[in-house]
Amino acid sequence: MTNVFAPAWLTDHNSYRVVARAEALALPKTADELIAVLQESVGERTVLLGHGCNVILSRNHYDASVRFVSTKGLDTAVVLADGLVKAAAGTRLRGVCRAAAQAGLSGLERLWDIPGSVGGAAFMNAGAYGASFYDVVASVEVFFPGTGEVTTLTREQCRPAYRLTAFQGTDAVILGVTLRLSPADPAAILREMGRIGKLRRSKLPYNLPSAGSVFRRPEGAPPVGQIMEEAGLKGFTIGGAQISPRHAGIIVNAGGATGADILAVVEEMRQAARERYGVELVLEQVVL
Ligand SMILES: Cc1cc2nc3c(=O)[nH]c(=O)nc-3n(C[C@H](O)[C@H](O)[C@H](O)COP(=O)(O)OP(=O)(O)OC[C@H]3O[C@@H](n4cnc5c(N)ncnc54)[C@H](O)[C@@H]3O)c2cc1C
Repeated sequence: MTNVFAPAWLTDHNSYRVVARAEALALPKTADELIAVLQESVGERTVLLGHGCNVILSRNHYDASVRFVSTKGLDTAVVLADGLVKAAAGTRLRGVCRAAAQAGLSGLERLWDIPGSVGGAAFMNAGAYGASFYDVVASVEVFFPGTGEVTTLTREQCRPAYRLTAFQGTDAVILGVTLRLSPADPAAILREMGRIGKLRRSKLPYNLPSAGSVFRRPEGAPPVGQIMEEAGLKGFTIGGAQISPRHAGIIVNAGGATGADILAVVEEMRQAARERYGVELVLEQVVL
């Protein structure tokens, strides 16, 4: 296989829109191409990117020793019989929600408007309003570069929990997912998606680049946003990174933020939670 890695800006590959340059980015278009790129990269430092809606790019330049592989090109969703929907890893979760609604299939309504790919949602177990991605997962197709094995795992084998799956901390690469949804009236599904969309837009800072909630929900303490408000940190800014004045659990890029700015604000938030509640906040976002 010829070298498919090329230099590229990562600005469009991270929802914070941090400006960063990579010397090696591959954009395979099919699962076979993705597997080939990953096989060729065994032993190299490889970073898998979905749509980059849950990552913090810590550097403004990554030399060729870091190989970025994006799943954005793997973008197909098919509605099958019996309420099953099959989607490739790079498909937008929003697109799958829309396709399901049009087909009269219910189950994804509360996940409507969560940015990112199906692969990212399956890796992170994305969720909102009491629903999580694995509520509707039937199976996940995974490639393990270490062993070269492609396998289909059941929902239980993925061991989903709050923003956790068996894939985190492993070299597993999600190739695609099959969802099991229930028949319902398309108009009712769209109405519910509309309600969720409005709710999200009224609470979350969709007006500025971010990567959603910075931390996992802490145990034994109020929600992160509340802790930051109590600490007077709403609107707190370092460089271009700001604790959103709209939702204090979210950092936004208010203009020209670097990864270092974001990480400095992350530290400030951690310190505030430590001082006020004695809790160690755990990052939900992935630092690259
Ligand atoms: C405005 C906004 C609101 C948000 N609201 C929510 C919310 O309500 N609930 C929620 O859960 N999240 C939310 N998020 C975070 C984000 O949308 C989710 O975590 C999403 O599932 C990330 O998908 P992605 O494709 O962007 O993953 P990326 O950010 O690209 O990757 C995240 C992690 O997943 C890994 N990964 C990605 N694809 C694969 C794959 N195919 N195989 C193996 N590993 C993979 C990456 O290596 C990385 O470690 C929000 C983000 C934004 C910007």
